[in-house]
Amino acid sequence: MDHEDPAGARHPNGPNDRKHPKEMTSSMDVLEIQSLVGGRWTGAPTVVRDNPAVPGQRVSVSADLDTATVERALDAAHAAARDWGRTPAPARGRILERAGALLDDRADEAARDITREEGKTFAEARGEVARAADILRFFGSEGWRIGGTTYPSAVGTDLIYSRREPLGAVAVITPWNFPIAIPTWKSAPALVSGNAVVLKPAQITPAGAWHLASVLREAGLPDGVFTLLTGSGARIGAQLVESPWIDAVTFTGSVGVGAGIYTAAAPRRIRVQLELGGKNAVVVCDDADARVAAGIVAAGGFGLTGQACTATSRVICLPGIRDAFLEALREETAAYLPGDGLAEGVRMGPVVSGGQLATDLGYLEKAVAEGARVAVGGAVADGLLLGPTVLTGVQPAHTVAQEEVFGPVVAVLDATGLDQAIELVNDSRFGLTAGVVTNDLDTVHRFSAEVRAGVIKVNRPTGGVELNVPFGGVGDSSTNTYREQGQTAVDFFTWTKSVYQA
Ligand code: NAP
Repeated sequence: MDHEDPAGARHPNGPNDRKHPKEMTSSMDVLEIQSLVGGRWTGAPTVVRDNPAVPGQRVSVSADLDTATVERALDAAHAAARDWGRTPAPARGRILERAGALLDDRADEAARDITREEGKTFAEARGEVARAADILRFFGSEGWRIGGTTYPSAVGTDLIYSRREPLGAVAVITPWNFPIAIPTWKSAPALVSGNAVVLKPAQITPAGAWHLASVLREAGLPDGVFTLLTGSGARIGAQLVESPWIDAVTFTGSVGVGAGIYTAAAPRRIRVQLELGGKNAVVVCDDADARVAAGIVAAGGFGLTGQACTATSRVICLPGIRDAFLEALREETAAYLPGDGLAEGVRMGPVVSGGQLATDLGYLEKAVAEGARVAVGGAVADGLLLGPTVLTGVQPAHTVAQEEVFGPVVAVLDATGLDQAIELVNDSRFGLTAGVVTNDLDTVHRFSAEVRAGVIKVNRPTGGVELNVPFGGVGDSSTNTYREQGQTAVDFFTWTKSVYQA
């Protein structure tokens, strides 16, 4: 049974105190992360998480909520959605803007927690927290713009207009690799549109979601409008998807889990948004500067330890630049020696878990067995520190050319010219991002037109997208119906009603 935190135990002025509970803030202590249900911190923390960069160092404990608590949370969210949906959108937005400012105030602390829990470097985590605060402000300001359209009547002088209505209570299910940015970029447009949000973050990285819940609560979000549920995805995630109180599901994670959610939600015909994996390719053209190209590929492939859906995982080299590019990439990898992301000068953190490391090494082993060569890296140090790895001699049919590794591994393929390079980029079931390094404008236009991916990067790493620009992919990367981020993110969380008035 989950236990309700008694007044005063963690919240100096009782459970309804909206201040961030200081004892729960970080330092180098173990974070005690509770869930937020009906506006109250709840749950006996039993699930432990250790620092992936420092073997044996405990970072956080969180609850694995039981079915009855989740049911209670769903009741509260469903009830809260009604009044929240009737709150003027600019007032909803003001709360998000306040939450953004509060997150700025504790950005260093939240970033440190994320680095210790997930492993990305402090600079990467700090950037992620700053992005989350900006997202809260961006969607806060959307409160002034959520509107409808007026239409001319063909038969008279009727006023005809459309209204956007919230969906109700939406489930937000998120992965471990952006523990605060993804929960925020899904929750903020949902909230400003007038929905209640029920967030289930990845079980191994709840700290970012907990910081988000804390600032939203402290900013004055009414009880029940934002719910944080920590615990098992297989059980709690499934319970959310099947609940009659859930009116839509937005999910980011693996293809397998996403497909299961799609099928489970189908009988109720609710909206489902899936953002899944990637196998992002960069084409390095003959006219490119080899050093510039290597810098772009290394940043995309080894930044964030390659653990991003937008990471560069394939490089397609044209023949005239191949050798110079590989030499420059080998030199570039030296800057990405992995280590503890809190340590000075470390540019790449550890792999997130033993399970992920086993997956990465399994792909390397298979690549070699299928005929590829490990040109750089491949070695593991101190538990979870996998060095930046470059595979050469990779053929299009090799497993490592087709499946998402989700680690610091770049597979290099060869192409005879641009035609074949574009064919290879499109030879994937995924279609999230793709890049080209060239100085030739015709190549840029052709690449942008012919490549099948939701995001095209010209002379930029495949990773890194801006919060005001629609984001998503095609194929197995996305449901490809509603885009995330940007103003269009609100489309998923609202439905339109047409009103005729005499
Ligand atoms: P995952 O295993 O699919 O988990 C994602 C979330 O789903 C977690 O919160 C998980 O909870 C939950 N979950 C697990 N089983 C579930 C079920 N049966 N029903 C409902 N929810 C369930 O993915 P991950 O390993 O955390 O993340 C890595 C994947 O995310 C990669 O494939 C990556 O490409 C993708 N990703 C995509 C994007 C994008 O925007 N396209 C962005 C980032 C990451 P537990 O943690 O408790 O298992």
